[in-house]
Amino acid sequence: MTTIPRKKKANIPHLIGYTCTICHRHYPYEEELLTCPDCGDTAILDIDYDYDVISQHVSRESLRKDYTNSMWRYKAFLPLEERDYSASLRVGWTPLYRSLRLGDELGLKALYVKDDGLNPTASLKDRASAVAVAKALELGYDTISCSSTGNAASSCAGNAARVGLKTVIFVPERAPQGKLAQMLVFGAQVVSVIGDYRETFNLSKAAIDKYGWYNRNAGINPVMAEGKKTVSFEIAEQLNFAPTDWVAVSVGDGCTIGGVYLGFRDLFALGMIDRIPKILGVQSTGCSPFVDAARDGVPLKPTPENTLADSISVGVPRNPVKALRAVSASNGAWIAVPDEDILDAMRVMGTVEGVFGEPAGVTSFAGVKRALEQGIIKPGESVTCLVTGSGLKDVVNALRAAGEPIRCHPDLEELDRTDLIARLNKA
Ligand SMILES: *Cc1c(COP(=O)(O)O)cnc(C)c1O
Ligand SMILES: [Zn+2]
Repeated sequence: MTTIPRKKKANIPHLIGYTCTICHRHYPYEEELLTCPDCGDTAILDIDYDYDVISQHVSRESLRKDYTNSMWRYKAFLPLEERDYSASLRVGWTPLYRSLRLGDELGLKALYVKDDGLNPTASLKDRASAVAVAKALELGYDTISCSSTGNAASSCAGNAARVGLKTVIFVPERAPQGKLAQMLVFGAQVVSVIGDYRETFNLSKAAIDKYGWYNRNAGINPVMAEGKKTVSFEIAEQLNFAPTDWVAVSVGDGCTIGGVYLGFRDLFALGMIDRIPKILGVQSTGCSPFVDAARDGVPLKPTPENTLADSISVGVPRNPVKALRAVSASNGAWIAVPDEDILDAMRVMGTVEGVFGEPAGVTSFAGVKRALEQGIIKPGESVTCLVTGSGLKDVVNALRAAGEPIRCHPDLEELDRTDLIARLNKA
């Protein structure tokens, strides 16, 4: 096996540098940075772009003629070298469905569902992993590592497998079986940590520091939110550059919602959209550090992790600054919904729209319903609901949401005596 010598930085003309989200110091792009050298590990960086350079490569017109049906149609916006990415997994360009019935029922002007559960490893995390894996290769690493509540890990493992990188994954022992099976099938070394997500994250950080692997932790590495921002490019483009009034996103660490904002910010800076949608951050009442902090006007406090929506069961969010900014800079709102509403959203999304999301995947929709009840979203506004992961990842909760099948012997008379017809008439 040949090892490629590690590079300090890549050749990226549109990347100007980094700005620390804590001390706001600017660092020119002289080497690849993860966190602020002055403020330390919790100081996430923003990546600064030269929009003049980007606009030389991409426009509404150029996109119209681009048949790349993956997130790589937006590579001019990403902090990566110009290269052919067609050999990697096909991430992105997921469908944006106009809701056929739910939007009307709720009194919305329009409701759209962006089904990111249809990504190759079945979650939106693929957008971040695709960029992380590309960056690891670009810099000459042979191993990539992260800690995760599940989806980041399975996604990292899948995208890495495809390009021949080795993967070391740290997950809390409560990770659902579907996600665990994915990582193992993708050949990752999986460390199941006897502890909660916070402890899992800390162990992964210590191990990555010690062994020198490429760090895919979204709470540290700024390229992760950059990958996730491609979902906003798609929402905008699929709506002919007139995005909905609101975009609803379920929030754990805060990287996804932070990325959603970055995408709209980029398009706005380039004059490709004329308004940034209001961003609705949705959490479970069982674990809602962002919602609590916003309601009380105080800094985030560590919170117990008590929700069945495992992907957003994050008591100590690692991307607080970008998440808070996404909501405040877009004039959006924070809202929490109980787990019962999340299970209900799973059933309704499946029954009424044919979209099967995992609990965290449909928490956004549960939040839209509640935000309408509370007058945060107004009737007559338009909304895009981001479904961030597939329900097949967590069938235990899917079955809780959906109820029991009818049990019957292969006997028509017995079938007649069941409540099949009553159920059909009710549905
Ligand atoms: C990771 C994840 C989220 C939340 O993303 P954060 O960056 O942790 O806020 C939401 N839904 C699903 C399905 C996820 O996997
Ligand atoms: Zn700093």
